[in-house]
Amino acid sequence: MPAVVLVGAQWGDEGKGKATDLLGGDVDYVVRYQGGNNAGHTVVIGDQKYALHLLPTGVLSPEVVPVIGNGVVIDPGVLLEEIDGLKARGISCERLLISANAHLIMPHHKALDKVSERYLGKAKIGTTGRGIGPAYGDKIARIGVRVQDLLDPGILSQKIEAALNEKNQVLTKVYNRRSIDPAKVLDEYLAYADRLKPHISDTSLVLAKALDDGKVVLLEGGQGNLLDIDHGTYPFVTSSSPTSGGACGGSGIPPTRLTRVIGILKAYTTRVGSGPFPTELTDDMGEWLRQTGGEYGTTTGRNRRCGWFDAVIARYATRINGVTDFFLTKLDVLSGLERIPVCVAYEIDGVRHDEIPMTQTDFHHAKPIYEEFPGWQEDITEAKTFDDLPANAQAYVRVLEEMSGAAISAIGVGPGRTQTLQLRPLI
Ligand code: IMP
Repeated sequence: MPAVVLVGAQWGDEGKGKATDLLGGDVDYVVRYQGGNNAGHTVVIGDQKYALHLLPTGVLSPEVVPVIGNGVVIDPGVLLEEIDGLKARGISCERLLISANAHLIMPHHKALDKVSERYLGKAKIGTTGRGIGPAYGDKIARIGVRVQDLLDPGILSQKIEAALNEKNQVLTKVYNRRSIDPAKVLDEYLAYADRLKPHISDTSLVLAKALDDGKVVLLEGGQGNLLDIDHGTYPFVTSSSPTSGGACGGSGIPPTRLTRVIGILKAYTTRVGSGPFPTELTDDMGEWLRQTGGEYGTTTGRNRRCGWFDAVIARYATRINGVTDFFLTKLDVLSGLERIPVCVAYEIDGVRHDEIPMTQTDFHHAKPIYEEFPGWQEDITEAKTFDDLPANAQAYVRVLEEMSGAAISAIGVGPGRTQTLQLRPLI
């Protein structure tokens, strides 16, 4: 009954799609457990590139059942577009299961996400503008609309009416925006209901039975550890729990059934949106990393902020998530450097910190303490085993492993499906 969790160990965009895809052949169910279409997973199969936002990557493997868990917030229009886009490329989503308890992103969530960011001015979070935060806000406030409400037009109508009663006041009176017509929203969502009905399911029950039957369940997080609402760099975070603890709440699989936690760790660091980022490079080196690593957002196309590997946040990811294995991605991007700096600790107001500081104020003031390691000039994209890597690349991996506190069990050396070195089994 293996239940394996994949979590981003930094600020997201570590290359989780590649890891999920690598495990695809051994997995029976792939479950998204939080976030929504703020996420972006890129999977390259042959000469085809797939950018998935809401659908679990498992959808690309015909033998896998893809599941959208209760912890996800779903924009049904976007989901259907994604399903239709894949269908047009010959990929069927018929097996997709959607939790009846997942919440829906409504038009007012998207309107409020954009306008409230504008009001924050300089303090803006830099959200993806997809309505994620407002949808989770309504979930917690217990006024959200859930997938199961699509099955009962009467209830759906009442819930939309009740939500817009309040939200239209906010949109028009606080933010000076147009109000949203509940009748139009109802029509739009009833049309979605017709198409989504066959997929709606009691997914926690399905997954419990699957585990009882010895099936392999992969839980796929969006974003990353430092964007977690509790453990991330609050308030510059997403509104859900990408961490391994969130995998349980967001899927209905209890912690006692998790067998492995795989942290996805990029060989350097990136971040999208606002917030502290101690190893950020704002110079030519940062631009070089962005261009060489293709660090442009899958979802918003925004430039990702880039910087050196930060061992402090990697250790933090191990601690918060109970990481058992790391999948190190994009090692090939670092080829060609003379020396590679790694942040081993922070200096904050003259004091060395080996762990993430307790307060956000301190984290904002953290200056990286670097150790430099020799780089390698060879192209490593054709490497098939760890031994094929140049000695300096092997040493760099070993250093990251030691500092991060968990075994590096797989290494990405290029975007393609076959460009992965597996050091030990991940399931
Ligand atoms: P939201 O999730 O749209 O509310 O955005 C909150 C913060 O999380 C912003 O800084 C976003 O840039 C960031 N974020 C959300 N999703 C992702 C992701 O998939 N990768 C990286 N950053 C993300």
